[in-house]
Amino acid sequence: TTEIHYEEDVDESHLANSTVAVLGYGSQGHAHALNLHESGVDVIVGLRENSSSREPARAEGLEVATAAEAAKQADIVSVLVPDTVQPAVYEEIEPHLEEGDTLQFAHGFNIHYNQIRPPEHVDVTMIAPKSPGHLVRRNYERGEGTPGLLAVYQDTTGDAKERALAYAKGIGCARAGVVETTFREETETDLFGEQAVLCGGIAELIKVGYETLVDAGYSEEMAYFECMNEMKLIVDLMYEGGLGAMWDSVSDTAEYGGLTRGDEIIDDNVRANMDEVLEQVQNGEFATEWVAENQANRPVYTQLNQAEKDHEIEEVGERLRALFAWEGEGEDEDEKTRVQ
Ligand code: NDP
Ligand code: MG
Ligand code: MG
Repeated sequence: TTEIHYEEDVDESHLANSTVAVLGYGSQGHAHALNLHESGVDVIVGLRENSSSREPARAEGLEVATAAEAAKQADIVSVLVPDTVQPAVYEEIEPHLEEGDTLQFAHGFNIHYNQIRPPEHVDVTMIAPKSPGHLVRRNYERGEGTPGLLAVYQDTTGDAKERALAYAKGIGCARAGVVETTFREETETDLFGEQAVLCGGIAELIKVGYETLVDAGYSEEMAYFECMNEMKLIVDLMYEGGLGAMWDSVSDTAEYGGLTRGDEIIDDNVRANMDEVLEQVQNGEFATEWVAENQANRPVYTQLNQAEKDHEIEEVGERLRALFAWEGEGEDEDEKTRVQ
């Protein structure tokens, strides 16, 4: 069973007299830096000399320096630049990691796949909020929290977990709950989830469903609504009340059809494909491929990114979305989804 930590279990004195260097001021970086600062922690933001994030950070009253200078002054170095950039930034800060310092991450990729090899004399921890940075910030400002994951990769001080928990409290995660995991589990489940289900699986399911209807002679508009637009309504029901809430809410015909045909679509071949994708995550094949892709300036990524933008469903969607008043935009509840 998984252990979950809340605010009352956390002793923030583990961060007392500590300085935290937050490297990067993007999605996670700005949220961690501002939340820690407002929690009374000494924060210094590490950014390159020409960074466009320097002004926004200073405007919020934060101290800004280069990554190397920030790491030199800090006891805890939180690495919140993009994962593909982290190994290069790590080179700059490594000389400044002193005995007993903490190297802190929000995702396990570079540690788990050995793209960063920290010295034995530092603690290596992870606090990974389970949401984009702007929500980590907004929840904190409202006095609420964002659930997060905690992992300890290396504990030289004997205090790694307590310090990570104090960090989690500082950014507001302990208000919602902090779940213990490992770098391996966080990294592998994150990669598998985004590849097989959340990003890769769902985008392909939508496109193939759309193409099947259009190829059979149905209109692009109908195909778009059935296979893309309604997805949000279905997922919202699952988010609120699980699969049960979704099945309860759709018609009996939809429920019977879905329950009898769903596993004909996601069949044993798809299961086998998922096993294969998981294996490439576990044996490091995917990580090696992605590191090489970045070193080669992303030829495959660039091509696939463009092909996705060029898919007909994107053009149809853009046209249709412009014709509707979407939720939140209309003053009147009734106007929200009405064709204009
Ligand atoms: P972002 O892409 O938002 O980071 C942007 C920041 O990194 C900017 O301040 C930018 O500064 C700096 N940066 C970009 N390139 C470089 C470079 N070459 N050298 C130095 N600084 C650079 O990152 P995220 O917040 O998305 O991700 C940070 C970490 O958090 C990752 O490990 C990610 O996996 C993890 N994470 C992200 C989540 C999310 O929802 N985004 C959720 C949970 C974890 P500049 O102005 O100089 O470009
Ligand atoms: Mg991910
Ligand atoms: Mg229907």
